[in-house]
Amino acid sequence: MNSSMPKIWLSSPHIGEKELEYVKNAFETNWIAPLGPHVDAFEQSIQDFTACGHAAALSSGTAALHLALVLLGIQSGDEVIASTFTFSATVNPIVYQKAIPVLVDSEKDTWNMCPDLLEEAIKDRISRGKKPKAVIVVHLYGQSAKIEELQKICRQHEIPLIEDAAESLGASFKGKMTGTFGDFGIYSFNGNKIITTSGGGALVSQNEDYIKKARFLATQARDQAPHYQHSQIGYNYRLSNVLAGIGRGQMEVLAERIAQRRSNFEFYKNRLGKHDGISFLPELEDSFANRWLTCILVDPQQTKGKTREDLRKHLETLNIESRPLWKPMHKQPIFEKYPYYGKRLSEQLFENGLCLPSGSNLSQDDLERVVKGIDEALA
Ligand SMILES: *Cc1c(COP(=O)(O)O)cnc(C)c1O
Repeated sequence: MNSSMPKIWLSSPHIGEKELEYVKNAFETNWIAPLGPHVDAFEQSIQDFTACGHAAALSSGTAALHLALVLLGIQSGDEVIASTFTFSATVNPIVYQKAIPVLVDSEKDTWNMCPDLLEEAIKDRISRGKKPKAVIVVHLYGQSAKIEELQKICRQHEIPLIEDAAESLGASFKGKMTGTFGDFGIYSFNGNKIITTSGGGALVSQNEDYIKKARFLATQARDQAPHYQHSQIGYNYRLSNVLAGIGRGQMEVLAERIAQRRSNFEFYKNRLGKHDGISFLPELEDSFANRWLTCILVDPQQTKGKTREDLRKHLETLNIESRPLWKPMHKQPIFEKYPYYGKRLSEQLFENGLCLPSGSNLSQDDLERVVKGIDEALA
């Protein structure tokens, strides 16, 4: 009987009123290509919202990370430091360049990269004769990392900083948007992110030359000539004008979507915070989280042995999707051979953490159903 209840998804697309109009306009004007007026306007709206300087709309956040590494000249055998507590797309592009990921653990206040461990990793790599060529810091689940401290360390060692803000569009630290602190930032517009183009991403930088070069590389690196001439390896990474139309509409409702996700978080916190052994990711002082996903930690020592898997499985029987936190990269079969600096914090987060349904289109009834399910699982 429970399974006949409608499915509650972890994070489903939430389309506004203008997207279809923009898409229709793309059809009517025959701009069905990976360039066009929607692409330009979408880039402009990202620049306006985030104050990132310059933005290139791309086919995915992964493509944006890859181009950032290409633009920084990352090559075979280079070392690149990255957060270990993340989705694999943060680390894959390092390997696309045949470079070596060096994985750094989280700290407990933000669950993001620990500044002390970053410093330790940089010094240790240098002492082994290999200075890292870049650092990729992730702002996970829409919570800003301790980005000023991390940035300071990168600057001291003169190592370029890339921010993976795929999950944190609209989240800020001291009023400055995540993704705009580093030499590069990336955003993702995949289907389950806070806003979506069904698939898409953006590379942003205060440095206009970088972004011009990114657009060039993203369109097969065509030299200026009437024929097709190439003096560099290019990529087919540009965003379609049709999808950029969706993106334009989504940017217009982004602030609303953030408010809705933040309100989901408050609801869960008020209703579930009373349970012993259930805790939430706090908002770092001076930061503003977009609360892309509401994540809880389940401490079995305080829940009479109930684990996050007990909760997840019970929700599944109620046709409610929830998901463990990211499994750290240094524990992934494909990445476990790479250097790692840490103290097992991300492993504990993975073991005890659960992401709850967090879409901006959840109804009050949906939210009540999730809470009731968790209450039952803990009873
Ligand atoms: C989604 C995501 C990406 C990749 O973005 P795509 O647009 O799906 O390629 C990268 N990093 C993190 C942390 C993500 O969550």
